Amino acid sequence: MLRQCEARIDLNAIRANCDVARKIAPKSQLIAVIKADGYGHGCVQVARALDKAVDALAVAILDEAIELREAGITTRMLVLEGVSDASGLACAAQSALDIVIHHKDQVAALESASLSRPVTVWLKVDTGMHRLGIAPGDVHAMVDRLVASPNCDDRIVLCTHLACADEPDHPSIRAQLTAFDDCVSGLALEQSICNSAGLLGVARSRRDWNRPGYMLYGNSPFAGETPASRGLRPAMTLSSEIIALRDIAAGDAVGYGGRWVASKPSRIATVAAGYADGYPRHAPNGTPALVNGQMAQLVGTVSMDMLTLDVTALGDVSIGDAVVLWGEGLAVDEIARRSGTIGYELLTGVTRRVPRRFIGE
Ligand SMILES: *Cc1c(COP(=O)(O)O)cnc(C)c1O
Repeated sequence: MLRQCEARIDLNAIRANCDVARKIAPKSQLIAVIKADGYGHGCVQVARALDKAVDALAVAILDEAIELREAGITTRMLVLEGVSDASGLACAAQSALDIVIHHKDQVAALESASLSRPVTVWLKVDTGMHRLGIAPGDVHAMVDRLVASPNCDDRIVLCTHLACADEPDHPSIRAQLTAFDDCVSGLALEQSICNSAGLLGVARSRRDWNRPGYMLYGNSPFAGETPASRGLRPAMTLSSEIIALRDIAAGDAVGYGGRWVASKPSRIATVAAGYADGYPRHAPNGTPALVNGQMAQLVGTVSMDMLTLDVTALGDVSIGDAVVLWGEGLAVDEIARRSGTIGYELLTGVTRRVPRRFIGE
């Protein structure tokens, strides 16, 4: 029999979430971020699902873009980290990729390259996150050089990234936006600033191109907020099934280290999913899971291939019953919060062992 841990990926939900993003800023163009294998959902399938719905796609690194091109995805595509050497530049030109330029040296490399065709450059400015980007004071000079280079086409996009967009009242947001607007003033070029949190929560960050990722997969980037409150539908449901059931006495311990001890006679369900599937090992006792749609609580340490739930208070529970670990009816961010991380990490951490089953292909 097949081991029954799977990630159901609802591509219709991703399309619907894309509509939500589109409606927030109907005059902007949408560049859907599908880096890290589409946030763990399967980048090729997500790219195919969004092909008609978006104006461009974005990945983090060249390898991800090439994988998509080799799968036949012809949509306009941006490499967010750019390329690091001449062969990367040649490859980007060959594969018709847009590239981010975030460092002065990359402008020089582009100028001295001989490319099969010019590339589209997104010039990234460091307005305060201090991760990637040229200094604001260098923007005009770099734009002049890009405009003069035959290796750069005339679709240059000016962009930056916000450090704290998920806290819409954070003072750094205004500072970054002002720094950006100051350094690009006088340049008649397209602009791009916001990720999901900016698109949802910071009106001033919505520009010609918006770059949502997380929300497209049906999740809210804001702590303590349900996806449904934004009209978003979770696209990944990670589920497994009960493979054993037992009744234990008060005082009996469950799992490695005996970290949970029953205070009364209890019914324990063993589920065929563990940290080797991407379920967080640090999930504490009490973390919710859905058994036949009813809330059960994790008890005991998560194992590599299994976890245990207290199902004492639930109605009929049988071996073979389905268990939702996150997704429909149980936001991944709830599991993440309890485990001391964010939903992004859980989604991108679902391992290769877990088959993806696509709905709406
Ligand atoms: C990942 C990323 C995004 C998308 O962020 P979300 O929070 O997933 O919406 C946008 N822009 C850049 C530069 C990124 O690296």
